[in-house]
Formats: sequence, structure tokens, C-alpha cells
Amino acid sequence: MLKGIAAAPGIGIGQVHLIELKSREEETDNSQLLHGPEEIQAELARLEEALGRAKRDLEELAAKTRQEIGEAEAGIFNAHILMLTDPTFITGVKEKIQVEKKNAARAVEEVAEAIASSFAALDDDLFRERAADIRDVAARLLDNLAGGARRAREMKAGSIVVARELTPSLAANFSRNTVAGIATEIGGPTSHTAIVARALGIPAVVGVQGLMDRARDGDLAIIDGSAGVVYLNPGSEQLEEYKKKKAVLEEGRRDSKYAGPARTRDGRHIEVAANIRNAAEVKIALEYGAGGVGLFRTEFLFMNRDEPPGEEEQFLTYKEVVAAFQGRPVVVRTLDIGGDKHLPYLNMDHEENPFLGLRGLRLCLARQDLFKTQLRALFRAAGYGNLKIMFPMVTTLEEVKLARAIMEETRQELERAGVNIGRPETGIMIEVPAAALAAEVLAREVDFFSIGTNDLAQYTLAVDRGNERVAGMYDACHPAVLQLIDMTVEAAHRYGKWVGLCGELGSEIQAAPLLVGLGLDEISMSPVFIPPMKEAINKIAYHEARELVRRLLKLPGPAEVRAALSKLV
Ligand code: PEP
Ligand code: MG
Repeated sequence: MLKGIAAAPGIGIGQVHLIELKSREEETDNSQLLHGPEEIQAELARLEEALGRAKRDLEELAAKTRQEIGEAEAGIFNAHILMLTDPTFITGVKEKIQVEKKNAARAVEEVAEAIASSFAALDDDLFRERAADIRDVAARLLDNLAGGARRAREMKAGSIVVARELTPSLAANFSRNTVAGIATEIGGPTSHTAIVARALGIPAVVGVQGLMDRARDGDLAIIDGSAGVVYLNPGSEQLEEYKKKKAVLEEGRRDSKYAGPARTRDGRHIEVAANIRNAAEVKIALEYGAGGVGLFRTEFLFMNRDEPPGEEEQFLTYKEVVAAFQGRPVVVRTLDIGGDKHLPYLNMDHEENPFLGLRGLRLCLARQDLFKTQLRALFRAAGYGNLKIMFPMVTTLEEVKLARAIMEETRQELERAGVNIGRPETGIMIEVPAAALAAEVLAREVDFFSIGTNDLAQYTLAVDRGNERVAGMYDACHPAVLQLIDMTVEAAHRYGKWVGLCGELGSEIQAAPLLVGLGLDEISMSPVFIPPMKEAINKIAYHEARELVRRLLKLPGPAEVRAALSKLV
């Protein structure tokens, strides 16, 4: 099992098809120079033709992406079109053909490489990404010069594409029919390749360290694009488990009868919402029938860049998301940095125990500049829909009071300046045991709770959620964790507040009776799990599930809880 970053949800199973982007040497390694004006003219004509074809391909891709995900994402390809028509680039290539008498492929490669390496040398992620874009444009031209999409050749239908790095335009040539999954060694969840994979509905995991050393052509592989893991040559048990999961997911996606709200057999409504990380994921969430967003992890907007997004940029993103949900709830979590999520540009001091350190709301209270900018953007976006603000990693009542005071101060500033703002509900995540134990005190102070089982399990069981050596002890179904969830729900309801759950336990279809019986009002999960979760909820009777949960809470350990749940399905 190799861990990476979840980039596009879903499960893919198939044989590895390795793609090495460097295999074009033979094409450009042409020591023969062009002879005479006729050969030069012919080569220039070939170049023009390839430029024209590449431009048409890109225009098609831009149109497809615009239609399937949105204007912002289509911009990647528009930028590529601009590069193709850039006079510096074209003149450079033509000069190499005319003056240095090199063939078109070599000329393209040399000019593109010179530009790309000057960008790549700059200490700036943005420029490094641009270097990848330039190389991608060149590769597309080379493909066209060689007479076709050479790199995608030989791929058997249902392959798992494994590469050190993929370019967005190469990925855009894939389809769900030919590619079962994508895994790359480098790249982040917001990389262009990830965006394209999501648009095409191909499960993808990026940033898988050691992938290229381990994977061989033809290996059997499982891509879990929701959990961000890759299994190479899995055992038969694991394979069976994933085949089942995949079937459940696919069944759910096709079944539009679960597009509506989830309701138990005895009529209890449960909001089934989506966890998202950016505006591009909204489309998928809606496609899977999300009734809203239960967790918008905004820290992803702050990653892979050199400075935090400003108020205007954040405002536009939040506005786009709330507007897309047309009055349905969108819970936006304020920045949750710290623990395993770093932002190098914050220049934070080293911490021995970052998960117990300046994380989540603690960091925001220490860095009020960051916090207030985000709050301003959120207040403004709240005017465009049903936006709710949620604070992560809350431990004490004092923190909540301080955060609310800063909110109030921000609100007044905006009002004084005559800015149009909304009145968002304010809630907190319950993911620290102290907050669950003090839920009653906290419930008076906020409008809602959302239980983060990922951290609640980690902190309750004292098991690092990312440490594979103690992974066997990590289980959100541990009765100790369930007791805390139960207390939290009770406390919220006692004060007339609603309570959701947005940790990964909410994606476990088998846990549906448990989630329903705990009395949650909302469950938020990766979009692909929404249809099967709704289907499961619709089959459950709330009063029966409640009785079940009373029994589960008394069981000795997670194994017994899971055994009891598996008997039900
Ligand atoms: C959680 O802790 O359960 C949660 C939803 O937050 P995150 O996974 O982002 O820490
Ligand atoms: Mg958390």
C-alpha cells in the first residue's frame, strides 16, 4: 500500500500502464541537419500544420472542460493556446529551422526547454508550474509532428496509468472507458492534472512517493481516489473488498432515484451533504445529489502558493460555491492549518507535536490577520446564499468566545463601510475530546456542531491518524469515540441546535444504522458515497437504529461494533 493524496474520487482496478514522458528522445535526436531551401520550407510547413492541429485540439479541450467543470479550469488550455501563438516562441523555433537548419521537432524542443528551464530555476511554485505547461505545449506539438497522440498508444482499455508526472493535456486525452485510474508520483490535489481527472470522472491519486520504483508494467493495481491510496499487487481478499466497494459506488452513481433527500423508513429526514475542497468539486457534489456542503476544507485554497489568497479571491470562491447550491446550506470551515497541513509561507516555528500544537482555530487566533481576511470574505459571500461558518479544532469555551468576538468586530467594520454582507450561522467542529465532553457548555454558544471523527478518534485513542505503525488501533467505531459522539448529539439537541458529522466515518455505508441511530441531523462525506448512503438511510427505521446504538455503545471494542453492524447489511 502506498499513500498519496486523494485527487479525484472513486475506485479504479486494473493493470498498470507506465507512461514515461521522456521517451521522445529518439524523435528529436536527429543529428542530420536540413539541406537546402526546399527542405527548410517543407519543415516550416510541417511546423505550421502541427501548430494548427495542436491549437484545434486545445480549443476542443478548453470547450469540453468549460462545459464539464467551468471557466476557471478551461483557462489552463486557453493559456496553452496563448503559448502556441506566442511570437517569441514561434520566432525562436522558426529561426532554429531556418538558420541552424534543425528539424522542427528538435527546434520545438530546444526552444521550449530553454524557456521552461529558465522558469523552473526560479524559486516560485507558480513559475515551476508554468515550466510544466510549456513542456506540455511542446510535447503536444511533438506529438503532432510525429503524426498523432503517440503517448496514449498501446494503452489497453481499463488500464491504471502510472507516471512520475502527467501533463493536463495528456490526461485530457484519456477517457473513463480507457483509463480506470491514475496514480502519479508528484503533483498536488490542486494540480491541473487532478482537475482534469476529476472532470473526466477518473479516480486519481497524486503525490505517491516511491511509486515509480515499485510499479511495473502489467502489475495489478487498485486506486482509491477518495482515500488517496494505491495498492500494488493486492491480495485476493483486498481485491474482493475493493471490487465490492466499486460496484456499490457505480450502482449509486447510476441510480438517480436517490437524488432527493434521505429519509428513514419512519420518516426522519437526514441531510446528506458533501465534503469539498474547492469550487471545482461543486459540480461533482451536485452530480451525486448532495443536499449541501457539510464541510468545505478551505485550507486547500491556501496551499501550493507563496502567499495566502486575498479577501477578493476568497470571496469569489465562496460566493461561487454558495451560489451553486442555491439556498441549500454550505458549511465553510475556517482555515485548519497545523498538524499535517503546512503553509511554508506562514514561517511557523518548528513544533515537536504539531497535532497538539498551534492548529486550526488556535492558529487563527494567533494570526488574526489571516483570520479576519477570511471572515471578511465569508461575511460578504454569505449575502449570496446559505453560508455557515465553522471553526475547527475547538477545545475550550474561551476560544469560541474569542473567535465570535473577532467575528463581531469584523462584521461591524464591514457594516460601517457599507459593505453588503449576510448573517451566517456559526458552528464548531467537535473533534477534540474536551469539546465533546463540554458539548453542553459549547452548545449554548453556537448554532450547530459538526463532528470530525478523524481527529476525534485520533485524540481519543491517542493514535496518530497518519502513522501506519499504529493504524491497527485507529478506528472511529471504538465505543469510546461513539460515547463522545452520543454525548455531543444529546447536548446539541438539548439546546435545539443541529448536529452533523463530517469525518470519514460518514463515508462508511455499513455504519449507516449507527449514524442514523446516533441521531445526527446531517452527514457529510466525499460525494461518491452520497447515493449509496442515501439508499442505506432510506432502508433504516430510526427507532430501531436508536435501540441498536444503545447496545453498540456498551460493546467492548470496535471489532464487536463492526461485527454487529456487518450482520445488519
Ligand atoms: C475530521 O477531523 O474528522 C475532519 C473532518 O477534519 P480533517 O479531516 O480535515 O482534519
Ligand atoms: Mg479534523
